[in-house]
Amino acid sequence: MTHPIIIQIAVPVPLYGLFDYLLPASAEHIPVKGCRVQVSFGRKQLVGMVISVGSNSSFPLSKLKPISELIDIEPVLPDDLIKLLEWAASYYHHPLGDVIFSALPKQLRSGAAAELKCETHWALTEMGRQTDSCSLKRSPKQAALLSYLQNMPETELTASQLNTNWNNWRSPMRALVEKSLLVATEKTQTATISEYSPNTTQKSPKFQLNQQQADAANDVIQALGHYQTFLLQGITGSGKTEVYLQVIESALATNLQVLVLVPEISLTPQLTRRFSERLHVPIASLHSGLNDTQRHSGWVQASKGLARVVIGTRSALFTPLPELGLIILDEEHDASFKQQEGFRYHARDLALVRARNKNIPVLLGSATPCFESLENVYRDQYRLLQLTRRGATGAQPPKVSLLDVCRQPMEDGISELLLKKIEEHLQNKGQVLLFLNRRGYAPLLMCHECGWTTVCHRCDANLTLHQHNKRLRCHHCGYEKAAPVQCPQCQHESLILPGAGTERIELALTEKFPALVISRIDRDTTRRKGELDKKLNQARTGEAQILIGTQMLAKGHDFPNVTLVGILNADQGLFSADFRGTEHMAQQIIQVSGRAGRGERAGEVIIQTHHPEHPLLHTLLHTGYAGFAKQALEERRLASFPPYSYMVIVRCDAIQKEHGQVFLHECQQAFTYQGIQLFGPLPAPMERRAGRYRWQLILISDERKKLHGALGQWVPAMSKMKSANKVRWSIDIDPQDMF
Ligand code: ADP
Ligand code: ZN
Ligand code: ZN
Repeated sequence: MTHPIIIQIAVPVPLYGLFDYLLPASAEHIPVKGCRVQVSFGRKQLVGMVISVGSNSSFPLSKLKPISELIDIEPVLPDDLIKLLEWAASYYHHPLGDVIFSALPKQLRSGAAAELKCETHWALTEMGRQTDSCSLKRSPKQAALLSYLQNMPETELTASQLNTNWNNWRSPMRALVEKSLLVATEKTQTATISEYSPNTTQKSPKFQLNQQQADAANDVIQALGHYQTFLLQGITGSGKTEVYLQVIESALATNLQVLVLVPEISLTPQLTRRFSERLHVPIASLHSGLNDTQRHSGWVQASKGLARVVIGTRSALFTPLPELGLIILDEEHDASFKQQEGFRYHARDLALVRARNKNIPVLLGSATPCFESLENVYRDQYRLLQLTRRGATGAQPPKVSLLDVCRQPMEDGISELLLKKIEEHLQNKGQVLLFLNRRGYAPLLMCHECGWTTVCHRCDANLTLHQHNKRLRCHHCGYEKAAPVQCPQCQHESLILPGAGTERIELALTEKFPALVISRIDRDTTRRKGELDKKLNQARTGEAQILIGTQMLAKGHDFPNVTLVGILNADQGLFSADFRGTEHMAQQIIQVSGRAGRGERAGEVIIQTHHPEHPLLHTLLHTGYAGFAKQALEERRLASFPPYSYMVIVRCDAIQKEHGQVFLHECQQAFTYQGIQLFGPLPAPMERRAGRYRWQLILISDERKKLHGALGQWVPAMSKMKSANKVRWSIDIDPQDMF
């Protein structure tokens, strides 16, 4: 009698552990690790992944179900990635099935073949080239598309390219094909952006690197082929991207693939363009702006070795790359590298694990490295590479000053002194950028008579007034309602609006400078597709003279005409309840300041503050980010906060207030261990959110091993606690905020 074959399978469910299934006798082959199979799970059919094949199970054979269907012959996930995901599941104490399936693009999660699909390409016919688009006046959309195609450098377009610039283009496109002005051809999808790079007329120049850049690039190039982490610390405009490009060229020349992770999608178009102009290899860009088919295609191209460079956001870290030889993380301090829900991983930390497993170098780059990375430099774990000169373009670093606004006349969040400066710069034909990390018109509506304020009935938060539609909106749960004209409590019509958001600044400045183009860039003004790109262009070309924005404006953009940066509410970050609050504040100030004077003219940065004597602001201004970080790290050391200790937050929320407390209390009773400090159960800083009460339990230890060892026992026990059924709970390893 032959032994039954038992397959251990990870399924996409929030349950710890793997599940045993039998290989049916009818199976045509024995699947290997990394192949997908279909199984019945409870009442559902799920796509699962084979983790191991054996002949034993801890369950009686009679209880095991057979696999319903084999999907793959070849594994979709290579061994090295499964190993990384297994490591991540164990480090983040998250169910392996959920980890594996959140690393796959959606179409693969639902069982699609890991093959390239066909995509339609549209090109002008001879008639299309000759036809005057004005003759299509009666169908303006068709006319616009035709003229677009006639005026672009590429000879053909794909759906992915059209999607980035057009909405609802399919039906006018069909009409143009019917009129024989265009032809549509089906082609196998190739890498997303490389295709039109050889055709683009303008190529970005390759520079002679300056000495610092050359040294940095050489150090990394020397390390190709073995594991080493580099931290490239270079002020904005010092030429980090140029270093990346030259290192990548070296890696590509020896037939290696390169993975580049970037924080935000808004940065990707500019960066990918620069990459595709310089690197003449297929590049796949993977980010949340893609549809499922595009994402699938980029992933498959990378995994087959067709795409040689992958540029993507956080989750692109999990792209299979058989010849991966280098990982670059740009703006490594950026909080978006940490996933904040579900499988809460940090892409920076996992990039290091992937690199160590593969024995390849990692290059982290930032003007304002996170404290963890700096500490790793001090401990000789990372090699520090520095670019201290903005020498690349000859631009001078901006002059930064504090503007004491105590008792100063202020209107709509801007002091008179700052307003004067704004006028000065505008008169000298400079561009002005105002930074304020708050959307909407005012963060609060208040009755001057009785003190009534607008609070969200589902959250411990105020409702923000949005003036353009006169609505009050909660920025935490999305609840909104019309703004009242009189106080609902005392009926007086004496409602006032303390504080200012970007919308208010925009309106106030529009009134002051009616002839100027003022562009507000925040989540509210860039919701529509293509809008952000349009606005960034307006900013870059100088068409908009005043830019007002939230952190969207602070990151990585190059606005050569900006000569004045005004930071309107730096004080917010000075008194944050979060131990990372000051670190983030400093990073933000430096990053925003870096937008000034990138061009030929010197820049100026003015920080409005009510606390001009604050030691942190002083250190930052007088010793720069490095000095500031040294001092702030010393404070962290004294307080035993990360990176001098290891932190985990157990979070939970429930409709009823006591349920969360009871659950965490039960956890606390179970969590006894020497060398681990427990704080809580405590209400979360925002106790109520979207109608649920939130609690947290904070665990801190000097020894990571101790903490993780203990969690390994606790987490499975937690899921079995009775009180766990009444709450939603999660574990956040190395939390990035305490919120
Ligand atoms: P960072 O990424 O550090 O902000 P970039 O790589 O974008 O800096 O460089 C800033 C500007 O300087 C860019 O316009 C870039 O083209 C230019 N640049 C970079 N390195 C050099 C160099 N060695 N010589 C001349 N120009 C350079
Ligand atoms: Zn009132
Ligand atoms: Zn709310």
